[in-house]
Amino acid sequence: MRLTDSHCHLTDGAFGDDPRAAIDRARAAGVVRIVSVASDLDDAVAALRLARTHDGVWCTAGVHPHAVSTNGASALVAPDALREACADPRCIAIGETGLDYYYDNAPRDAQRRSFLRHAEVAAETGLPLVVHSRDAAEDTAAAIRECDGAATGVLHCFTGPPALMETALDVGWLVSFTGTVTFRWFEADLVRAVPAGSYMIETDSPYLAPVPRRGRRNEPAFALHVAKAVARIRGEPVAQVAAETWDTASRFFGLPAAARRTEVACPQGAPA
Ligand SMILES: [Zn+2]
Repeated sequence: MRLTDSHCHLTDGAFGDDPRAAIDRARAAGVVRIVSVASDLDDAVAALRLARTHDGVWCTAGVHPHAVSTNGASALVAPDALREACADPRCIAIGETGLDYYYDNAPRDAQRRSFLRHAEVAAETGLPLVVHSRDAAEDTAAAIRECDGAATGVLHCFTGPPALMETALDVGWLVSFTGTVTFRWFEADLVRAVPAGSYMIETDSPYLAPVPRRGRRNEPAFALHVAKAVARIRGEPVAQVAAETWDTASRFFGLPAAARRTEVACPQGAPA
């Protein structure tokens, strides 16, 4: 069994200067592909360096809605800078971008313009979008519609509402689930409702450690706990969830399904 952690932040200080040990533990747990997602353009450079030097690691380029400048339009990420940041073949998506009206760290209008700018570059480059949406379902749905099929994307760390999932799936976007699927408040019907082929597994580490690791630093190896929880909710074998989400991630990110350079044998004692 092999898994893809489709969203984590290996460049986060929580992993120290060298996340190699976390990558090794992930590999030992069968999590043989990791997408390290950038929070801003400096972070994109760091993530690319990591992806270039570690087999099985890829990266993204983009500016998190928390990091969108409060100085207005002129300070938004320049499309050229974004294009440059995503030019390397190890960079396989644009983001994370999106809307966060819970923290409102940047003016909403600036967040929206940043999101649409990311979508433009995604449409141009053919790379998919990685989207964060919190307390912003209506405007996220509007932005997805505005992409009008020109760009595709994933609503990462998806926790609802169901109507937003419907909007996303209608236009061929995906959702992805984190360790929140193991939390008591999580709306399990979302996991039951999503068709195979329309969702991925992620950790969003170092944040959101799943039960039974809750309260500790999260890491890509724990994608296995997320997969197990999703399998339990869907009433499917975890091997089926692993195989289906592997194929979905391959298609979404344009990764070779065979993952020649990253394939490892199923570790001894790994749950089937
Ligand atoms: Zn994230």
